[in-house]
Amino acid sequence: MEKSKVYFTDLRVPEGKSALAKLERLLDQAGFDQIDFDGKFVAIKIHFGEPGNLSFLRPNWARVVADAVKRRGGKPFLTDCNTLYAGRRKNALEHLESAEENGFSPLSTGCQLIIADGLKGTDEALVPLEGTTYVKEAKIGRAIMDTDIIISLSHFKGHEATGFGGAMKNLGMGCGSRAGKMEQHNAGKPEVKEKKCRACHACAKSCGQDAIDFASGKAHIDHEKCVGCGRCLGACNFDAIFNPNDDTLEALCMKMAEYTLAVVKDRPHFHISIAKDISPFCDCYGGNDVPILPDVGMFASFDPVAIDQAAADKCNAQKPMADSYLSDMIHAHHGDDHDHFCVMHPGTNWEVTLEHAERLGVGTRSYELVEVK
Ligand code: SF4
Ligand code: SF4
Repeated sequence: MEKSKVYFTDLRVPEGKSALAKLERLLDQAGFDQIDFDGKFVAIKIHFGEPGNLSFLRPNWARVVADAVKRRGGKPFLTDCNTLYAGRRKNALEHLESAEENGFSPLSTGCQLIIADGLKGTDEALVPLEGTTYVKEAKIGRAIMDTDIIISLSHFKGHEATGFGGAMKNLGMGCGSRAGKMEQHNAGKPEVKEKKCRACHACAKSCGQDAIDFASGKAHIDHEKCVGCGRCLGACNFDAIFNPNDDTLEALCMKMAEYTLAVVKDRPHFHISIAKDISPFCDCYGGNDVPILPDVGMFASFDPVAIDQAAADKCNAQKPMADSYLSDMIHAHHGDDHDHFCVMHPGTNWEVTLEHAERLGVGTRSYELVEVK
């Protein structure tokens, strides 16, 4: 396969200039104009950040991308899907409130915000896949599949399950509906925390499979009947239903690559990763530790595999920040020769995601880095 081009710029700016202008230049030089945006719906997939977290991408970055789309005649919107776990982004109402709390609004970003899988994470499109190992029919947030063009705007950082979070984490996991996320995280069957269950029966009413009984006085899910649709997670307002996360991390990485294929296939797609405030863990946490690396820069590419590889390589070439989670982990467990993400998150192997995505034809790990000044 031919090398993919990944465009890169660092975050240095002379006095009086803004890094936002650098992002605009990066998009221009990476060939944003090659996409025919005219009259098209354009989903900009972003992570709005869990309230309390301060390392998520500020709305200012999204504004640059939305404005660039609008200048080219497109109709952009910012989007994400609901989470599987308890938190403040598990239904569309709380998710939008959290986004607003973190500064995302039509005023700040120049476009609307849409939670792609609806109020309770059940509004999904089924995308058939061929040649995949695990996923035969991906479950993707409806608004994301209804759009004409998909742009990934991701904050590049560490991730406890996949090593790092970049373009493919943003698209593969992030665009999955609740059932889609369940399928990636485990065999797709949720469980009940009895202590939290108030026996309100809301979950049972939402279950189309009659899989929830109350023989013990608390909700219990019969995994023989459960089809893993995830509706009960959205129905429970007491965070009593959870995803047990029982798949191996390798299977999770491969499924994420397969979900990325579902999101990008058969339509134009473009990817931007910003490696800044590089936290050790995902922006899904309601807090963040100090950065593990210095601010690295911004990447743009038509290839979601190449951009992840390039960002990982650049990060791995950086010296860890002193007194960070990464430097603690290096001192505790390893010498100098290591992969930053694997040493932070033992048991993860981000290369599995990239290798599998490459096998599926999502993109290539071989890239040419083009520096933009
Ligand atoms: S919706 Fe939640 S609290 Fe209500 S019965 Fe089901 S598990 Fe228990
Ligand atoms: S995941 Fe779906 S099928 Fe399974 S118990 Fe919950 S609502 Fe029922």
